[in-house]
Amino acid sequence: MVAAGALILVIEDEPPIRRFLRISLEGQAYRVLEAATAAEGLRLFGQDAPDAVILDLGLPDRDGLALIKDIRQLSPLPIIIVSARGQERGKIDALDAGADDYLTKPFGVGELLARLRVALRRTANPHQPDRGVLTVGDISMNLDSREVTANGKIIHLTPHEYRLLFILLRNAGKVMTHKQLLKETWGAGYGFETHYVRVYMNQLRKKLEPEESQPKYIHTETGIGYRFYTPPD
Ligand code: CA
Repeated sequence: MVAAGALILVIEDEPPIRRFLRISLEGQAYRVLEAATAAEGLRLFGQDAPDAVILDLGLPDRDGLALIKDIRQLSPLPIIIVSARGQERGKIDALDAGADDYLTKPFGVGELLARLRVALRRTANPHQPDRGVLTVGDISMNLDSREVTANGKIIHLTPHEYRLLFILLRNAGKVMTHKQLLKETWGAGYGFETHYVRVYMNQLRKKLEPEESQPKYIHTETGIGYRFYTPPD
């Protein structure tokens, strides 16, 4: 787990949003560094070695996407992007470039803290096993026997459904783009066949969800991808 007092670098040019982020984070005992430009953000990143970055995609001096790529050259730390509503393309590009998650303005404190918690937890435990039992909420996958259960009931999956569920559980709580799911499930040669993901996701929902029309486990992130449910901690 992440120690209390993790240092969060906020790179955001709008003062009211910066202030909201600082107050929300400090209220949860995070420490906060603020930058209003990409240049200042990168300087603080190098100087103070933060534990996570919250990055506005629309900065005055530089494209947020380029900044993500620079940071990713240096560190695997969590990057959560902040963007305006309707900028789906920008969010997808940022996630595919290595951002961990996104927040769409306006967002609430609860959403901010949940995203940050998941992202910090993932970097604190990067080596998840390929053996043993993977459990998220009521869903369990035995990685040795390949038995999958939902609420204690055995679920039969095809090999691709199994692989897709494995990727979702491993990334529980984190948004996954269509492209990321496609590559992780079908392989590096795939990238545009996002309808595969949709078809298989529907099949998984049929098998896993108690009520298919109101998914409890597999949430659609409209225009972006999917997010597997995480139980609150
Ligand atoms: Ca901005």
